[in-house]
Amino acid sequence: MWICPVCRAPLSTEGASWSCVQGHSFDVSREGYINLLLVQQKKSRHPGDTPASLQARREFLDAGHYAPLRQALIGQMPTQRPQNWLDIGCGEGYYTSAMRDHADRVIGLDIAKAGVQMAAQRYPGIKWVVGSAVALPLAADSLDGCSSLFAPVSQDIVRVMRRGAMLMVVTPDTDHLFSLRQALFEEVRPHQPQRIVQSLPAGLEAVTQHAIRFELKLQQADLKGLLAMTPYAWKAKAERRMTLEAMPEILTQAAFILHILHKQDKYPDIIPQPKTSGVSKF
Ligand SMILES: [Zn+2]
Repeated sequence: MWICPVCRAPLSTEGASWSCVQGHSFDVSREGYINLLLVQQKKSRHPGDTPASLQARREFLDAGHYAPLRQALIGQMPTQRPQNWLDIGCGEGYYTSAMRDHADRVIGLDIAKAGVQMAAQRYPGIKWVVGSAVALPLAADSLDGCSSLFAPVSQDIVRVMRRGAMLMVVTPDTDHLFSLRQALFEEVRPHQPQRIVQSLPAGLEAVTQHAIRFELKLQQADLKGLLAMTPYAWKAKAERRMTLEAMPEILTQAAFILHILHKQDKYPDIIPQPKTSGVSKF
C-alpha cells in the first residue's frame, strides 16, 4: 500500500529501510517512524507545529480537556471494523492513539517531524509517518477510512480512499472558545465550519454532521497551554493576552463540527495524480 514519494513506484517495507525498484530508500527511525517527506514538499525548514506548541498541546490534551471530542470521534468510526485507517495531521498522536482499537491498521501522518517523533515514542502499534497530505505516499484505493482534524482536505485524499470509504473531518464551530476570543480580540470573527464542505474535492460527498460542544473550565496553566496551541495567541495584542493569562480561571465553551463524508461509489477510476517534481531528496 506504500508508494515511493519520489517516483511513486511501490515501496518494499521489509526491514529497517523501505525502498523502491529505482533505489530510493528511506530509513525507519530509532523511534519507529518513517520519514517520507521530500525536501521540496517542505514549506519551511521545520514545517508544521513547533516543538514548543506540540509540547503545550500534549500537556493540555493529557489533562483531558478535549476528551469529549476524542470520544465523539471514536463513536463515529465505522461499526464494520476498517482494515486501513489514516489520520492526517496526527500531530503528537492524541486522537490517533484512540483510533488504534477501532481499525486493524492505523496510520498517523503529519508534515511536522517533531510531532510524529513524540507520537512514535509514546504510542506503539501505529504506523507513524512524516509525509505530505497533498501528495500522500500511499497507493490508490488503499484505505477504508480517513480522518482529518483541523486540517484541509486535499484532492489526494480521494485518490487513496476506496469507493464508499469514510472521511471524518473536524472543524471549529462558529462560536468555538467564544468568551476566550472575546477577551483576546476587539472583534470576534465567527469560525466557518461549513466552508470545508462547500469546497470539497471532487469525489467526496457529505453524509452527516454532528455538533460536539462542552464546557471548559481552565486554570491559568491550562489556559496558557491552550493559547500556545492555537493561532489566537500570536494574533492577539500582547496586553490583552497578558490580562487574560493573569486571570485565575476562565470558563469557556469548546464547539466543533464533525463532518462525515464518503467517497462516492461511482467516482471514476482515473483520478488526478499529485504533481511530483522528480527531484530526489538525496
Ligand atoms: Zn522511488
